[in-house]
Amino acid sequence: MKYFLMVVIIPVVGVWLAGCRCMTKAQSHHQVSLPGLQNFIDAHVTKVKPLAKKAALASWKAASSGEPNDYKKAGEMQFRIRKIYTDPEDFVFLKQLKQSGQISEPVLARQLDVLYNAYLGNQIDPELLKRIVDLSTDIEKNFSTFRGTIDGEKVTTNQIKDILRKESDLARRKKAWLASKQVGPVVASDLIHLIKLRNRAARQVGFENFHTLALTTGEQDVKELDRIFEKLYQLTNEPFAELKLQMDEILADKYSIEVQQLRPWHYHDPFFQEAPQIYEVDLDRFYEDENVKEVAARFYRSIGMPVEDVLRRSDLYEREGKNPHAFCTDIDKEGDVRILCNLKNDEKWMETILHELGHAIYDKYHDPDVPYLLREPAHIFTTEAIAMFFGRLSRNPAWMKQMLGFSQQQKQRLEEPCRKYNRLQQLIFARWAMVMYDFEKQLYANPEQDLNDLWWDIVDKYQLVTRPQGRDKPDWAAKIHFTIAPCYYHNYVLGELLASQLKHYMICDVLNLPFNADVGFVGRTEIGEYLKKNVFEPGDIYPWNEMIRRATGNELTPEYFVAEFVQASRVK
Ligand SMILES: [Zn+2]
Repeated sequence: MKYFLMVVIIPVVGVWLAGCRCMTKAQSHHQVSLPGLQNFIDAHVTKVKPLAKKAALASWKAASSGEPNDYKKAGEMQFRIRKIYTDPEDFVFLKQLKQSGQISEPVLARQLDVLYNAYLGNQIDPELLKRIVDLSTDIEKNFSTFRGTIDGEKVTTNQIKDILRKESDLARRKKAWLASKQVGPVVASDLIHLIKLRNRAARQVGFENFHTLALTTGEQDVKELDRIFEKLYQLTNEPFAELKLQMDEILADKYSIEVQQLRPWHYHDPFFQEAPQIYEVDLDRFYEDENVKEVAARFYRSIGMPVEDVLRRSDLYEREGKNPHAFCTDIDKEGDVRILCNLKNDEKWMETILHELGHAIYDKYHDPDVPYLLREPAHIFTTEAIAMFFGRLSRNPAWMKQMLGFSQQQKQRLEEPCRKYNRLQQLIFARWAMVMYDFEKQLYANPEQDLNDLWWDIVDKYQLVTRPQGRDKPDWAAKIHFTIAPCYYHNYVLGELLASQLKHYMICDVLNLPFNADVGFVGRTEIGEYLKKNVFEPGDIYPWNEMIRRATGNELTPEYFVAEFVQASRVK
């Protein structure tokens, strides 16, 4: 996931730049011309480009060292960049130009759109913005310092998760789940206040609420997302209900209770967003004698997209103080792409390095002739899709056979457990993400409503999890994403959907194989060529939906995801 970007609420605290460009001033009053926009872009890039590189290097340094001072410097650099986008005169210039409809040259018009969106989300009264940032920081602090308790003893999130994964004492499971929700009442009233402030900010720039503003500046349309999510809901309803029942039977049996008695604490994580461990499948043993870095490098070379240069610049192994997660960063949009990992030779890190290198090749293979402002992925979720497509290979028996030298028999033994595991994982996550999307939309539409009740209605609808009797607590507020990454969660699902859609296209139309062919993609330079030409090189020249239409001949649809993970029937 990792490749995080905060689209709208940005910690810009005050003043915009004191000096303004004469060009901007003049043109905001008069007719604007084409060279006017090109001049604006040139001046903007001259200002932003060196700052963006410095900011990326500062963040990289902070992630490597973990030093508070380095984090502080990185934050300051971000702040300087964001300040540029608060300039109201620049915004007026862009807005008038956009409304005039004068810019017809597509690449120029596209840059205008990208700039307009970047400025739009920042045209909020600086005082209000400061209140939003401060309140969100306060809530985040509450989250990081709060500890739930079990029988009066403080427990960490990891301890809670551990109990939910392993504990068989049902009373203790329940206490652990309740402990995971105790942060809800601590932050809920502040969080509702924050939602209202965000809505007020959105109304200042002409939107009905913050959810709509966030989606719009991210070039996403609520109606279009509703259509995709509704279809995904319909297509997964029955299979999920069936799978859930099987799972419930296994769990109820294990706890020696009836299926009807299952409650949220019987699942293996606080929000039922991950698959409970009900199938025995241990893939780690296939990777423990491998070098996951070498395997990844060998694979990417085999499809014609070598990553040795990326790996040389990267920070791959654990170290005291270093960021314990993983991410990819494009330092300068001129080829300096790096990943950070904490590699071990197991399945999780095999997946992670394939995932991060997926982001890396997207950035590495942008066409250098594409203008600077468009030399990036078409959307945050399109780069996530590429990363997911490659990351999934670590659990693909055909890929494992080719990369790890399995026998045919070894491969066959893995097929069924891998298929079942992937299906469970993907279905559970998709249904959970529907909860997040639907709830968040309704949360911003009306923060005054009975949110505790709404939450459990939605959980019941999508996840088929029974509300504990009489439960009336702000359990929704215990999910930190509403605070730190508002209106973002749906992108994880869109990434999964696109990964499946691209895979389907590559199998059927690039490799000319039947849709259900068992492909590991090793050595298939055709897919490297296809991705470079249709996805990576264009960067952000086309909005994401147009890029997808051009690359796959179809608009983004959940059907391929459903065909890959939920059923095995043909997609038309
Ligand atoms: Zn990612």
